[in-house]
Amino acid sequence: MSAEAHKETLEFKTEVSEVLNLVIRSLYSNKEIFLRELVSNASDAAEKLRFEALGDDELYESDPDLRIRVSLDKDARTVTVTDNGIGMSRQEVMETIGTIASSGTKKFVEAITGDESEDNRLIGQFGVGFYSSYIVADKVTIETRRAGLTSEHGVRWESTGEAEYSIENIERPERGTSITLHLREEEDEFLDSWRLRSIISKFSDHVALPIQMLSEPTEEDAEPEWEQVNKGTALWMRPKNEITEEEYNTFYQHVSHDFSEPLAHVHNRVEGNNEYSSLLYVPSQAPYDLYDPNQKHGVKLYVKRVFIMDEADKLMPRFLRFVKGVVDSDDLPLNVSREILQHNRKIDSIRGANVKRILGLLEKMAKNDAEKYQKFWEVFGTVLKEGPAEDSANAQRIAGLLRFATTASDSSEQTTSFADYIERMQEGQDKIYYLTAETWQASKNSPHLEIFRKKGIEVLLLTDRVDEWLVSNLADFDGKALTSVARGDIDLEGDKESDDSEEKKDEKENAVVLERLKEMLGDKVKEVRASSRLVDSPACLVADENDMSQNLARILKQMGQDAPESPPILEVNLDHLLVKRVADEEDETAFEDLASILFDQALLAEGGRLEDPGSFVKRLNQLLLSLGS
Ligand code: ADP
Ligand code: MG
Repeated sequence: MSAEAHKETLEFKTEVSEVLNLVIRSLYSNKEIFLRELVSNASDAAEKLRFEALGDDELYESDPDLRIRVSLDKDARTVTVTDNGIGMSRQEVMETIGTIASSGTKKFVEAITGDESEDNRLIGQFGVGFYSSYIVADKVTIETRRAGLTSEHGVRWESTGEAEYSIENIERPERGTSITLHLREEEDEFLDSWRLRSIISKFSDHVALPIQMLSEPTEEDAEPEWEQVNKGTALWMRPKNEITEEEYNTFYQHVSHDFSEPLAHVHNRVEGNNEYSSLLYVPSQAPYDLYDPNQKHGVKLYVKRVFIMDEADKLMPRFLRFVKGVVDSDDLPLNVSREILQHNRKIDSIRGANVKRILGLLEKMAKNDAEKYQKFWEVFGTVLKEGPAEDSANAQRIAGLLRFATTASDSSEQTTSFADYIERMQEGQDKIYYLTAETWQASKNSPHLEIFRKKGIEVLLLTDRVDEWLVSNLADFDGKALTSVARGDIDLEGDKESDDSEEKKDEKENAVVLERLKEMLGDKVKEVRASSRLVDSPACLVADENDMSQNLARILKQMGQDAPESPPILEVNLDHLLVKRVADEEDETAFEDLASILFDQALLAEGGRLEDPGSFVKRLNQLLLSLGS
């Protein structure tokens, strides 16, 4: 038989042991991927057979049920992956397996730089495929027979992954390939059937081919049977019109580990030079880690039905991190690494399309089912508000999806869109006015709103933390500038009510009061000026045109970050009795008390914290007592 067998021992074409050492070293922390690679090759082999059999039915050799089997032999310390796919001829084994210098691996070898971190990156890029077996095995045996060849054309290939391999012909009735890993001493963990099952289910549940393992016999004499251990259907690959709502929901629960029903999904197949399928869901509940910067499980990346990674941030931007689902690419390499995803044009274009699909889905929901959209908004609105800052290209589209509380309603519910606001704008109004504050309660009674109330101009009330971030990254909507009612000068149409001559007369007196107040308050304020926004309140604080809002400065400080010290402007309502009283006060100490109260209450009304609350209370009590006398 030995002559027949053509046993040869051949050298690998490159320094294979060197390459393998590198592979083992850099992939060791992820060693279970060997099974993913072998299963993926087996599944490729099945797909090749299916394809070739399209033209030649004989290739099925009366064994048309394609499947993958994983078995283990504890005594021999081996794990074997067997498929009944296309198989390999002797020539093919030598060309593909025997030549580490083939395909991706060759490019990898050529590109090796000796710089470890760079090489780790390259391994991902070029893929190690079959050779990842050597992470856990010190010897690998392949037995294979190509579909269509007779049984004596089987081939056995064997190598310890050092300088050489052997290859010989064998008798092999079964079509396809079986790959046996002789486990290294320290890799006993893979001799555990449950361990293997869990790896298969983790990586290959949606390999559209049954992956079978022998059942664990329950009774002494029971014969173990082959049973399927993966789910075996790639739902996202099936045509939309054949998938029931129920199936979509079950799959959502599988990918999301969330037992509630999703709010909506969008399922697409893209053909062309970047082929992929995507199935994306908007959940109805927030995950516990929605605000955890390390939050994972977003959209899973598959390549040709094989699970590659959870990679929320590469397939979906942060502001859509609540989206769950699957992207399955036909064009990315199986060993694509996180590093490569960072700068991959195909991924960028998939991500861009994902964003558009989700925005489209939300727009449709908002339009056709406002109630559902409101549910979405309550759960994920604050996350979506990060959008305009993160994705300026889509800022206007995202802005169109935002909802706010408003002075036009008595409720704190965020239901008003920019479009609603614009529709209700007054004749001649060209700005969208908003107020940021810490709570809705605080915002709705803010002195800053007084002139707007009086004139019947609606103001959006922004009281989520992220709102400050939003408005500093969104200058306008539909050409209407977003304008804070608590910043800069407010000039409202028809604002000048008093007639000019009277104003002139008062101006001088007023200037004196303002000056006196500024002198008294010192560095606490940037300026003291007459207000055009107050009606009922004596004073308020506003930010200068280009300064950070007081609310944002407070948020930053609470988060332990530096906020620039820009003192606010004190605006006073010169028509207010209290201000007139301050203006008329001749006693310096009494003036100081009144001025302090004026400033402190403006700060309080704005949601600020008093530096010296005790003194404020004392002064206020004095003032109250003086009322009676
Ligand atoms: P890749 O899968 O990216 O081509 P691999 O290193 O995983 O790289 O596999 C190298 C080659 O070996 C495959 O392209 C295929 O030709 C061959 N091969 C590996 N496993 C099998 C198998 N189970 N059946 C048939 N051919 C296989
Ligand atoms: Mg492969």
